[in-house]
Amino acid sequence: MYSLKWNLSQFYKSLDDEQIDKDISLVLKEGKRLHDKYLTSDFDSNLKSLKVLLIDLESFDNKYSYGGKPSYYIYLNQFLDQESVKVKARYSQIEKLNIELSSLLHFIYERLSKIPESKQEILVNDSSLKEYSNYLRNVFKFSKHILSNEKEEVVNELSDMASGSWNRLLESLHSSEVVKVKDSKGKTHTLNFEKLTDRFNSPDKVLRDNASLAFNEILLKHSKVAEAEFNNTLQYKAKMDKIKKYSYPEESRYLSDDVEKEFVEDMCDYVKKYNTVSKDYYTLKAKVLGLKKLKYHERGLSFEKGESKFDLKKSIDIVKNVFNTIDPKFEGILHKFLSGNIDSESKKGKSGGAYCINVAKSLPTFILLNHHDKLHDLLTIAHEAGHGINSEMMKETQNALYFSTPPATAEIASTFFEDMVVDNLIENSKGVKKLNILLKKIDMDVSSIFRQVAFFNFEREVHALFKLKHYLSNKEIGEVFTKHMSSYMGSSVTQDKGSENWWMYVPHFRMYFYVYSYSMGLMIAKYMKAKYKKDKKYLKNIKEFLSTGTSLPTSEVIKKLTGDKDHIWKMAIDEIKSNINDANKLYKEINGSQL
Ligand SMILES: [Zn+2]
Repeated sequence: MYSLKWNLSQFYKSLDDEQIDKDISLVLKEGKRLHDKYLTSDFDSNLKSLKVLLIDLESFDNKYSYGGKPSYYIYLNQFLDQESVKVKARYSQIEKLNIELSSLLHFIYERLSKIPESKQEILVNDSSLKEYSNYLRNVFKFSKHILSNEKEEVVNELSDMASGSWNRLLESLHSSEVVKVKDSKGKTHTLNFEKLTDRFNSPDKVLRDNASLAFNEILLKHSKVAEAEFNNTLQYKAKMDKIKKYSYPEESRYLSDDVEKEFVEDMCDYVKKYNTVSKDYYTLKAKVLGLKKLKYHERGLSFEKGESKFDLKKSIDIVKNVFNTIDPKFEGILHKFLSGNIDSESKKGKSGGAYCINVAKSLPTFILLNHHDKLHDLLTIAHEAGHGINSEMMKETQNALYFSTPPATAEIASTFFEDMVVDNLIENSKGVKKLNILLKKIDMDVSSIFRQVAFFNFEREVHALFKLKHYLSNKEIGEVFTKHMSSYMGSSVTQDKGSENWWMYVPHFRMYFYVYSYSMGLMIAKYMKAKYKKDKKYLKNIKEFLSTGTSLPTSEVIKKLTGDKDHIWKMAIDEIKSNINDANKLYKEINGSQL
């Protein structure tokens, strides 16, 4: 069987390699060197010293960002073997390294942030600092919110106990549950919490309904802990905002993602206004699946008929082919990943899901997959390779300080490439197979756009309510949750008893206002795709975007790609509408029945 494996021997022989310890010491030594060199430097009042500092930071980041090579090696190993005690021990070593590095260098950001605003403006516009202009802008924008070294240290040291460990407590209560559920043939399945959620999509209705009942029972069993945990999560956020002088809950997210409040809110309003589209989709889906209504847990149910197998080799060939027709450069980048930078097989102990991983500009990109020969897995390759292309193109053009993507734009590259592959599959298939792919695609679009916006609106409301009431009961949180979920699902999906508690296990609500980025990325990607299909010359804009990194303010990046913002949302929603129409027509043709 064809499979791909990461080649990590390019870094070290094994986790026991003594060179790892030597390299960790070296990274720390470099951090200390920077610390000592700049502690007494006048970089915050002398332009020349500032430039020297920036050049030094750039070369430090190039090699040692996130702890550099030893950190990366251990981090990657952790993806492959999450249960290994050896990896865990090494992991705590690099966690310590990274905390030490950030406390060694924090004073630099603290002192830069204290440069008076009028002078900040001059530095951002100084021609001798041109290549660092957006970096400085990004540091300065936190001026009002950065704490002194001592305070920052206290906050950092306590943050895991104040917030993270509560989240993990709830997670571990959920994941320690193992239950028995029966299928339609009376066979008993012993399933843990994670496996239960997989069964929501089982073609066996008895099994999926039983899995959902068992899942709801687990949530209910730990609901008192969830209530306390979530109130703590809300309170931690409110307190941190007060300490760091943020005036409203989403502000720190917008600032760190470098995205404008109005832009995000405009998108959310638009998506909410057009939620008849997602409602129509669920009505169609229920009919296609032969169900009167979809239960809450059946939203993601696959249309099994016409399902094709996409083994790894076939999937990669399809993706390469599509990438090649857009630009051979893209195919070339994916081709390079195939020799040692992709790990494809699902294995015990290996992290689930899929990731594109990067830490420093000078270190290679790695892609983790769990390929199971499904359409979804084929699209995942396109998605993660899209992230990978983005990284490689940034490396070619940008300095190390700009080698990253803000969340607001990070999903544009990945979903653009993924969408191009789906479109290709739709064009090249017909009948039931085509209907299958169309439904899958709309499913994904609805989850990424309408569901994430509903999640975001839930978060906004629940944080505002907490500010007002200081403590929220499960019932109150559940009511807000159900309100937003039903707003995009409509009456074809039932809000079953127990579904009001599903906020309890969504990890993203513990990351604060991150979810908008999925919706924004995909909508901009759809705009980009439509533009490109109309005029191939637009490829130039796409390539420029893929090379940008954080060298420009996000709003400028988006402006360069899209021009008028009203068009972005409209183009994306129009595409989904048109796909729903196509699916509807196709279903009628296949079934010969009236909808
Ligand atoms: Zn992604």
